[in-house]
Amino acid sequence: MARKEPSASIDFIRAIIEEDLRANKHGGRVVTRFPPEPNGYLHIGHAKSICLNFGIAQEYNGICNLRFDDTNPIKETTEYVESIKEDVRWIGYDWGDRLYFASDYFEQLYDYAVQLIKRGKAYVDSLSQEEIRDYRGTLTAPGKNSPYRNRSIEDNLDLFERMRAGEFEDGTHVLRAKIDMSHPNLNMRDPVIYRIRHVTHHRTGDRWCIYPMYDFTHCLSDAIEGITHSICTQEYEDHRPLYDWFLDELNTPCHPKQIEFARLNLSYTVMSKRKLSKLVEGGHVSGWDDPRMPTISGMRRRGYTPAAIRNFCDRIGVAKRESIVDMALLEHCVREDLNRIAPRVMGVLRPLRVVIDNYPQDLVEELDAPYHPEDPGMGSRKVPFSKVLYIEQDDFMEKPPRKFFRLAPGREVRLRYAYYIKCERLIRDEKTGEIVEIHCSYDPQTKGGWSKDGRKVKGTLHWVSAAHAIPAEIRLYDRLFTVENPTAEKDSEFTNYLNPESLKVLKNCPVEPSLGGASGGSHYQFERLGYFCVDSKDSSNDALVFNRCVTLRDTWAKILKKQQA
Ligand code: ATP
Ligand code: MG
Repeated sequence: MARKEPSASIDFIRAIIEEDLRANKHGGRVVTRFPPEPNGYLHIGHAKSICLNFGIAQEYNGICNLRFDDTNPIKETTEYVESIKEDVRWIGYDWGDRLYFASDYFEQLYDYAVQLIKRGKAYVDSLSQEEIRDYRGTLTAPGKNSPYRNRSIEDNLDLFERMRAGEFEDGTHVLRAKIDMSHPNLNMRDPVIYRIRHVTHHRTGDRWCIYPMYDFTHCLSDAIEGITHSICTQEYEDHRPLYDWFLDELNTPCHPKQIEFARLNLSYTVMSKRKLSKLVEGGHVSGWDDPRMPTISGMRRRGYTPAAIRNFCDRIGVAKRESIVDMALLEHCVREDLNRIAPRVMGVLRPLRVVIDNYPQDLVEELDAPYHPEDPGMGSRKVPFSKVLYIEQDDFMEKPPRKFFRLAPGREVRLRYAYYIKCERLIRDEKTGEIVEIHCSYDPQTKGGWSKDGRKVKGTLHWVSAAHAIPAEIRLYDRLFTVENPTAEKDSEFTNYLNPESLKVLKNCPVEPSLGGASGGSHYQFERLGYFCVDSKDSSNDALVFNRCVTLRDTWAKILKKQQA
């Protein structure tokens, strides 16, 4: 991709990079990485990090690695690795041949740990986990030294080797950096850098039974790969002194700069793999790719597009201060992209039968309907019109209030691309009194939906010919949670705020016949109803299933207007 135009207002991260480039700090190189832990599927927060890391590499003619931070074998699987690769590619980025795993560096990391021991900067501690916690002190009280802190270098080397050899049970020993137990930053109070875990790793199998901790692994993996700018989220700010300590003590040839930015939070959802996996495991959603999930795979299935997600990440920008971004902005970006690319078609969610009394019994007219009002290049299709049609139940009212401009007894409306019709009478269910069918007349002089005598109608309805309709399942989605920030509520159990109305499934919705065989993942605008995407899992030639991505109501545009006023 071409280098982006340097923009007048760049964010603080790009400002740092440009400064480093001017100073020729890394020989003019920019190397970033996206470092997910394969312990779940990626979410929209990760998309922000992906767009930032890969985007910066593109803009400054650099490179961005994909590196799996796979040091905790308990929660990590190859299923997650594969899903993450698919998602990064789908968002639109390419790591070339630079797919790395922290687990590939286990041997090197072990050597680094041995070096630390030899320099007197690491020791094997044999306190229990609880004791280590107790000895650590608090924000206001200093910690105290472990009785094992002064083991000799020889003893430490011997014990560490035996830890690796599998001589000890989980939890009996750890390797710790020897820094300062009264350091004001708790991360610097002799952090644990290796622990014993007799667990099979998804890549290294049973080769290792000691695993390095994140803080030790991350900075060294960055250094090994020659990363220049290690961009991460704000919660790592307090870890930066440790990041630098390891690299300084080990005198690595490359010392990347860690830069933190505020993580993305989105309203009406949660954004941590731990919580998302709870939703999956608790059966609250159908899986990681449930279209209500804030995961990349969920959004893809729902019908969000990579361009919309990239645009969203661009618009929210990067900053230091955390905030909650309005879901309406993301939906706005989706709408903007789908408005451009989605062909317009007709389908009815809740059908009401309409019989055109004066239309010939066996006549079928094929009416021309363009796929896009502003893009003639998208062409058109033929929509069959016949005596019996379906319209939306909502589009008819027996006793319409003021401002209801759709169909009502005695009133005339336009059927899109077809004719003017006028409601003549109703047929009710004898028992329930419910309206089951309405009878209309049509004006043959209004073909195409326009009257030659200049007669105007106020409403235009979508419709589907009953005899030609294909039945489809349509899934309508609402927010997954009923509150803006489910984790900040009084009740700490965030699942108590799930929206029971987040999914509505409508069966046998009549849709126009041009949709027969529509392939999974394709997008449409159902006129007046929103943007829909053919479900990539459950839809087939025999049973069409659509997900509604977004409605047509742009709440973000309204918010903007209000702000401007
Ligand atoms: P989670 O809390 O969702 O599990 P994580 O930070 O543990 O997230 P990682 O797999 O370690 O997940 O994250 C990979 C990268 O994505 C990291 O650099 C992390 O900082 C970044 N990241 C994670 N969540 C967000 C977010 N909400 N906004 C921006 N970046 C994020
Ligand atoms: Mg993590």
